[in-house]
Amino acid sequence: MSTDSTKKFGYPTRAIHGKSNTSSWEFSRHLVPPMTTSTTYRLDSLERGAQGFAEFAHKMEEGQKRILVYDRLDEPNTLMLEESIADLENADCAVSFGSGMGAISTCILSQLKSGQTIISHHSIYGCTFSLLKNWLPKFGVQTHFKDLRKFEPSWLKDKSLRLIFFESIANPTLEICDIEHIVDCVRQENLQREEADKIRVAVDNTFATTAAFRPLEHGIDFSIQSLTKNMSGFGTEMGGIIACAGQYEGLLKAARKDFGAVMTPHSAWHILVYGLQTQSLRFHQQQKNALEVATYLEQKTGTLKVTYPGLSSYPQSDLAKRYLKDSDGVFCPGTMLTFEVSTSTEVTRKFVDHIAMNSYSITLAVSLGLTKTLIEVPGLMTHSAMDAQSKEVGNITPTLIRMSVGLEDPKDLIRDLAEAFETIKI
Ligand SMILES: *Cc1c(COP(=O)(O)O)cnc(C)c1O
Repeated sequence: MSTDSTKKFGYPTRAIHGKSNTSSWEFSRHLVPPMTTSTTYRLDSLERGAQGFAEFAHKMEEGQKRILVYDRLDEPNTLMLEESIADLENADCAVSFGSGMGAISTCILSQLKSGQTIISHHSIYGCTFSLLKNWLPKFGVQTHFKDLRKFEPSWLKDKSLRLIFFESIANPTLEICDIEHIVDCVRQENLQREEADKIRVAVDNTFATTAAFRPLEHGIDFSIQSLTKNMSGFGTEMGGIIACAGQYEGLLKAARKDFGAVMTPHSAWHILVYGLQTQSLRFHQQQKNALEVATYLEQKTGTLKVTYPGLSSYPQSDLAKRYLKDSDGVFCPGTMLTFEVSTSTEVTRKFVDHIAMNSYSITLAVSLGLTKTLIEVPGLMTHSAMDAQSKEVGNITPTLIRMSVGLEDPKDLIRDLAEAFETIKI
């Protein structure tokens, strides 16, 4: 079946069946593809070996069989996962990585060179912030952190600017930018630039996932996700992916080969067989639970801030409704929320520690999007690589609690929260 003919099927169906016909595996006997375990491949002749290297990272013709050489180049299970995710993203191709950070760093390092600059949103995952702020300047690439909710077209006049980077739903503040406005302005600016100088837009779509937002449909160049989170979903695998136009595939695969952030076939198999096939179901149920928990927290904490894109109090409700939708156009505010229980760091610590030691249904742990509900304090944990001033500018306070809502009965999540409120006397 060609890619085009899968388009009439819905997201959950395509996530389950992928491309039923692929040159990466013979599906005529297996309902579920086997897990591949060989890191290297028998080559019938020197000519075939040479051809494998020569063809690597080049576009495959329809029906052409890929010559597999070595797992760091291409591998059947990762190829199948890439084909499935490209289909869900409506992208020409997708390239997998060993982690979300492997995807983000390879995307940036393959696109930029010394003397060029990036604009990034000020609220961003802690390790991405550290990559942009601590590592890239060593190679002459500077990043300007800005509030992209107040995007100014004049920022694009900087001739050294090559990349705009942000998260479709920002980690941890859940801020959303006017994505199409940014893409339109970049398109205008690019009309005056040579091909090699054009500005590209990369979006980290980890919080929203492909279920709620498909960046390429909005003109984004690189759609990046940490597959470790909701796409894998059970907390057992690490992975990352970049979905993009075919023109970038060769460069990304060549960079992946040399930088080495490859996904193991074992992880690709689990994400393909268990993660993707249940993702839509898990995401929608977790989202329903998130709304219940957010509604409870809002009524419980009164004037303190509860942020969830599905609440009417969410400050960027219009943008959330415009961009966060499933493939049927239904509003998808996601599975992530943040809240404060007190303006005091000490009370916040007591509350979180109480949950950590006493709650059955809520766990203090990083990561997100999983079947289990997790809380953490980004300012002290996932975003600790950020300096104090950047945290303040990015609205990442030490009293902000981030919650990733799982698949438990929401009544139990609320009961465990209520018990903590009662014990800490909030
Ligand atoms: C977790 C996360 C990453 C990094 O993904 P890993 O798979 O842990 O490397 C990147 N971006 C966001 C928004 C994340 O939440």
